[in-house]
Amino acid sequence: MMTRKRVREEKKENNDDDDDDGRKEEAEVDEEEEEEEEEEGCEIEYEKLRNARLAENKKRMAELGLVDLSHSLTEVIRLSSSKSGKSVKVSRTPKPPTPPCPSRRSSRLQGAPVVSYSELRPKGEGKTAKKGEGIAARHAGRGGQSAEIYTAEHEKLLGSATEEWQLFADGYAANGNRVYDPVLGKTCHQCRQKTLGHRTSCSECKSLHGQFCGDCLYMRYGENVLEAMKNKNWVCPVCRKICNCSFCRIKRGWTPTGALYKKVKALGYKSVAHYLILTRRGKSEEKEIIEA
Ligand SMILES: [Zn+2]
Ligand SMILES: [Zn+2]
Ligand SMILES: [Zn+2]
Repeated sequence: MMTRKRVREEKKENNDDDDDDGRKEEAEVDEEEEEEEEEEGCEIEYEKLRNARLAENKKRMAELGLVDLSHSLTEVIRLSSSKSGKSVKVSRTPKPPTPPCPSRRSSRLQGAPVVSYSELRPKGEGKTAKKGEGIAARHAGRGGQSAEIYTAEHEKLLGSATEEWQLFADGYAANGNRVYDPVLGKTCHQCRQKTLGHRTSCSECKSLHGQFCGDCLYMRYGENVLEAMKNKNWVCPVCRKICNCSFCRIKRGWTPTGALYKKVKALGYKSVAHYLILTRRGKSEEKEIIEA
C-alpha cells in the first residue's frame, strides 16, 4: 500500500497536466475509499488557501508598518501553521470560500448529474487522441516511479470477446444517457458508476472489485460482459492483477491512463489492457518478441 504522500504526489501531477479526464479520474476512487480521497483533495486545496491567507496577512502587516514586529509575525505564522484545521477555522481571519469538494454520493442521490470521467462518452475524438498521446509519452518518461513493465505472463491473462459488445447501449435510456439508480444500480469497479446494466461477478474475490459494466469490460479489457457472466470461473481484472482502473494504477504508483480506448483502437489494439500489456515490455521481453 502506498503512502498518503505518494497519493498526493500523484494528484499534483494530475493537476499539472491540466487534463480534464485525469482530473475526473481522480474522483474515480473506490466507494469505500471515496471519502478519504475526497478529504485529501480538500486538504490540498485547504493548504493552498491557508498559505495564500498567510501571505496576505504578512503583506497587510508590512503595509501597516509592522515590519519591525517581524519576530512576532514569525511566531504567528509558526503558531497558525501548527494549528489543526479545526482551530484555524475559529480564528478571526475571514473564512475563505469552502473548496469545491462535493460528495459524489449525496449529489447522485439528489439526482444531480454525476461526473463521468471514464472512457464512456468521450467528449471529442481529436481531443481524446491527442490526450492519449500525451499520456503515453508521460508514461514512457516515468523512470522514477515504479516501472510499468509487463511480461508474457501478463499477456496470458488478457481475455478476449468472442462476440462484439455494443457500446453505450446497456444501461442507457432512450435519450442516450446512462441510467443511474442508487437502489437497483450496481457500481462498476472501473467507472464507479452506479447504473443499470449488466455487471460481472468474480469467482475469486466475489466482491465489488469484480463488478465491471459491459462498456468498461469491453473497452478496457476487450471482454464481453455477457460471456463473462456465463463463465462461472471468470476472474476479474483486479484478481488477475491487470486492472487498469485509475485507483488500481495509483495504488501501484502509476498515473491513470485517462480515456485511451479510441486511440488504442485506432492503433489496432483490442482494448486499453491489450495496448498497455503489449507495448510495455521489459528489455529481455522486447528481444524475445523480435526473435519470435
Ligand atoms: Zn464501468
Ligand atoms: Zn476478483
Ligand atoms: Zn481497479
